[in-house]
Amino acid sequence: MGQITCNQKLLQKLENNMLEEYIRRTPKSREHYEEAKRVLPAGVTYKIRDMNPYPLFIARSIDSITLKDIDGNKYIDFWMGHGALVLGHNPPKLAETLKAQAEAGTHYGFEHPLAYKWANIISNSIEAAEQVRFTNSGTEANMYAVRLARAYTGRKTIIKVKGGWHGSYNGLHSYVHPPYQPIETSGVPEELAAHVYGVEITDIDGLVDLIRKKKPAAVISEPVLGAGGAIEVPREFMKVAADECSSTGCLIISDEVITGYRTTFGSYMEKRHGITPDIVVLGKAIGGGLPVGAVAGRREIMKLIDHRIPGDTKVFHGGTFSGNPLTAVAGITVLSYLKENGWVYSKMYTFLETAIHESERVTKSYGVPIHVTGSPGLIGIHLTSDPPRNADEVVSLRYCPKLYNLIHLKARLNGILYVSETMIHLLPSAYHETRHIHDLFEKTIEPLFETVVSSS
Ligand code: PLP
Repeated sequence: MGQITCNQKLLQKLENNMLEEYIRRTPKSREHYEEAKRVLPAGVTYKIRDMNPYPLFIARSIDSITLKDIDGNKYIDFWMGHGALVLGHNPPKLAETLKAQAEAGTHYGFEHPLAYKWANIISNSIEAAEQVRFTNSGTEANMYAVRLARAYTGRKTIIKVKGGWHGSYNGLHSYVHPPYQPIETSGVPEELAAHVYGVEITDIDGLVDLIRKKKPAAVISEPVLGAGGAIEVPREFMKVAADECSSTGCLIISDEVITGYRTTFGSYMEKRHGITPDIVVLGKAIGGGLPVGAVAGRREIMKLIDHRIPGDTKVFHGGTFSGNPLTAVAGITVLSYLKENGWVYSKMYTFLETAIHESERVTKSYGVPIHVTGSPGLIGIHLTSDPPRNADEVVSLRYCPKLYNLIHLKARLNGILYVSETMIHLLPSAYHETRHIHDLFEKTIEPLFETVVSSS
């Protein structure tokens, strides 16, 4: 049996050597980072894009799966625009379609046929999505989902799963990262967070208890926790939530911003859990690579947005860029392709199988456990003593966190990118190959294990 020494001195030495190499290879990124710091807080546009000791600055994509940084280094990209790019960078036909639409107008600010055609694709592939409204981000769509649930039920409380990430909307930025807090960002009034309760996906009794005691408007969950570590929410947990909600009058909101159209053509909760939610939140993939979100749901709920139907419980939705033709045309192009090309999802499944196989192989050869979690299209790799069953275990069962973080730097030096240093997530595209997953294990994880695992 192998043993991780987790010798901090050794790891520090490894890190110093790798940093030296990184700095040597990326002088232009460093220069741009210095410039960016003056005008962007922390020199980045989003903290998860930051890297040790400074982020790479990307010049362009050179094919579906490869990014080139401004120093000319190339990387196989496993981040795929936060998971939005199921068909990789530059999907088939998209550039021409976008060019034609840009010439016709990027944004009419009036109704146009593309929006309902796009909504039809969603409505025809997700049972719960009888009606759809578009937003510009997943965060915004979650905000409307919560608003709809509260208006429909006349209740205030929301139960979310611990480790669930629904964007930084004031009303849901709670219980995201262990050790969980009711509010995880400054600037949110306590009164707002007081309406939100968190429950671990392994705590079915706690879930039932909360639903019965708090009488929530909704239980919101991703079917597979993304930021929480690519952990599939057990079907049993969702089934109990759905049954309790149907008997006590709350709604199920399925946040499918990552899983929608990435893991399957439509909703993961419907297809894999066999549960039809009341409201579905979408984003990422449905925009074909352009900024997007959507809230969709049963007609009876969505009709609260219909200003033509008289009533007091009207829910406002709208925004300057909602349903803009540029995103609509990108969404239609990519979703239409995905609809006709089921091989994409078979391939996503193969990647998951390959990652599991690779983790078993490395575990066996070094005698040190590596666990793979997630679903097709959303793969988590964990250096944990046991397979993590919830977002807390992703962190609490991790051995040698420093080594885990170093895998990111080693991967960068080997021409592989993923986000982030503290969480190995792979969000492949249809155009990756299984050898790319193999490379991550063989060229990145194994050489590190070679150095730090000693036989006993
Ligand atoms: N919901 C989930 C499951 C997400 O993963 C994300 C973003 O990563 C969001 C919501 C927020 O979406 P956006 O970043 O488009 O606001």
